[in-house]
Formats: sequence, C-alpha cells, structure tokens
Amino acid sequence: MKALVKSKAEEGLWMERVPVPEIGPNDVLIKVKKSAICGTDVHIWNWDQWAQKTVPVPLVTGHEFMGEVVEVGSAVSEYKPGQRVSGEGHIVCGHCRNCRAGRGHLCRNTLGVGVQRAGTFAEYVSLPQHNVVPIPDDVPDEIAAIFDPLGNAVHTALSFDLVGEDVLVTGAGPIGIMGALVAQSVGARKVVITDINPGRLELARKVGVQHTVNAAEEKLPDVMTRIGMTEGFDVGLEMSGAAPAFRDMIDAMNNGGKIAILGIAPTGFEIDWNKVIFKMLTLKGIYGREMFETWYKMIALVQGPLDVSGIITHRIGIDDYKGGFEAMRSGTASKVVMDWE
Ligand code: NAD
Ligand code: ZN
Repeated sequence: MKALVKSKAEEGLWMERVPVPEIGPNDVLIKVKKSAICGTDVHIWNWDQWAQKTVPVPLVTGHEFMGEVVEVGSAVSEYKPGQRVSGEGHIVCGHCRNCRAGRGHLCRNTLGVGVQRAGTFAEYVSLPQHNVVPIPDDVPDEIAAIFDPLGNAVHTALSFDLVGEDVLVTGAGPIGIMGALVAQSVGARKVVITDINPGRLELARKVGVQHTVNAAEEKLPDVMTRIGMTEGFDVGLEMSGAAPAFRDMIDAMNNGGKIAILGIAPTGFEIDWNKVIFKMLTLKGIYGREMFETWYKMIALVQGPLDVSGIITHRIGIDDYKGGFEAMRSGTASKVVMDWE
C-alpha cells in the first residue's frame, strides 16, 4: 500500500510502498478515505528535537483520519466491513490504575498512532477495536477526519461549565477556533479569541467567533472595556502554547477563574504565580480526548449546533501532500484534509 513514511532521520516525509498492516484478533483494519494534517505531523516533518526523541524511524505517520472498515479480527463482533469509522489515536494500556478505573485518557502508558506506532497517512491502518469510533450517517467525511483535533477542542472547552460565562481563548489556530465555537455553541456569554497572526484572526471572524483580538496591537483590558466586561474572564482556554499569551490570560482572569491548558509551551517559561494564588485560579492540563466521553459529546455537537467546516482551508488529493505540508508550515492553512481516493 501507499503510505507517508518517516523513513530517514531528517527533514521530510516520503511516499513509499509498505505492507498492509496485519491485524490481531482484537483489531480492525480500516481503509483510510480522508486524513488531515496536525501540528504534530509538521513537527515530525521538520524533525525537531521533540520528534527526534519521540518517533522511531521508519514509521508510517498521521493520526487524524476517517475511513471504512475492511476486515475485523476473530474476537471483533461490534464492527462490520463497510462501516464508516474514525478512531481514537491514543492507544492506552488497559492495566494501569487509571485505565482500570475507566479513565483511559489518564493512562500512564499511552502510545500515539502515527507517533509511536503505524499511523493513518496510509491506504490502510490497523486499530484495536477499543479505539474505533463509528460515524453517524449525517456527519460528513471531512468532519469525521478532524475529530481528533476537534476532540482536543471539545475536551478543553467542556472542562469547565461555560453557560453564561465569559471565555477567553488564546491562540486562533484550528483548535483555538474550534474551542471558541464550542464555547459559543454551549451557551457562553462573551467569547474572545486572541492571536498575533492576522490571517488566523480573519478566519476566526469568518467562521463566526464573537470577538477577535490581535494581541500584538490591542491590550485585553481595553478590549474588555470595549465589549462591556467590567470584571474579568471566568474561563480561559489556552490554545497557543505561547508564554506571553498565557501571561496575558492570567492577567485578564476574574478572581476564581478557571483555565484549561492545551497549548504546549516551551519548558521552563515563567508566570507570576502570586497572581494564580491571589486570584485563586484553577489550572487544568489537557491531553488528548476523554475516552470516550469527549467523542460522544463532540458527535452530538456536530449533529447539533456546532459547525466547524469553515476551518478546513485546504482540500487536496494525497498526491499533493507536499503542498499541504507547505501550507501548514507557512501558517497559511488552518486545517488541510487529504483525500486518499
Ligand atoms: P497552532 O500552532 O496552529 O495555533 C497556535 C496559535 O497561537 C497560532 O495561530 C499562533 O499565531 C498563536 N499565538 C502565538 N503567540 C500568541 C500570542 N502571544 N497570543 C495569542 N496567540 C498567539 O496550534 P493548534 O494546532 O491550533 O494547537 C493549539 C496548541 O495545542 C498547540 O500548542 C499544540 O501544540 C497544542 N496541542 C496540544 C494537544 C494536547 O493534547 N495537549 C493536542 C493537540 C495540540
Ligand atoms: Zn493505562
């Protein structure tokens, strides 16, 4: 089969022919129809320090996808060939304390599809049946292909009650924009998103985020006055991984505010801890998606009030993958969906 492989320990990904993955008794073989490019895939392409210490070479990459079941292992009864599915890209151990308590997202031994084991930038991928998620008929293929990052946004946004709350999202990348749209869908009062890249803010406006702020040009206290906020934000969703954004957020929170942190910041960055203490803030780290509560909620949201189709800026055939990665690396793309058919 064709697959995008990290076959050399250097910058790039290469389209190669590799064997179709074998399946065990508990696995499902899926024919990939669409896959999307994540920031993580760009790190793997760039072969930065994180990628060098995390990704074994050679490896079939990619983890955002949807497709169709083609074969199931002897112990699988839930899934049938022809069924449309996506899947959770974190493979958990099933035997650590958290896994046994039903909190798979807190597993200590998580392995990433397309990061530590064969991924979805391929004509076929094998997943444990536990990780497979069926797609309802009314959910379009391209939305199912971005369930993984949408799940990040939903997990982060739904970490705290948002009904009637004022919400600050720092970072208008695809996940930040989706997080803002989730907040609006579930009844937040004011939703403000910040970025320093005008193109990303323009996309946020275009898809209907209430208030967009260029953090390089305007200070949050001025924005708050302009939009009629007198106290501070109740909930923060950190989606930039940028230390200055996180510091701005801490400054703009109301006393007792709650912050969910998805963005991966540089190691050792500084914040003013006294502000966290005297404002009595709650900070919560977020990794991946809750298994499988996030998936249930996300699917219900896209079947209902949530429309995230506007963040797909590029729809390309798989043979144009280099252009897709170029658009991601230059920051001109939000979500790039690649068609394998
Ligand atoms: P992205 O890099 O596309 O978006 C981040 C955005 O933050 C960019 O648009 C950037 O311009 C903006 N930014 C930079 N400095 C800023 C500042 N000072 N103020 C406001 N915005 C600023 O990333 P993404 O794909 O949307 O993902 C969001 C973050 O979540 C990234 O840090 C990513 O690494 C991380 N992530 C974490 C998980 C997890 O499980 N914890 C999963 C996926 C992604
Ligand atoms: Zn575990």
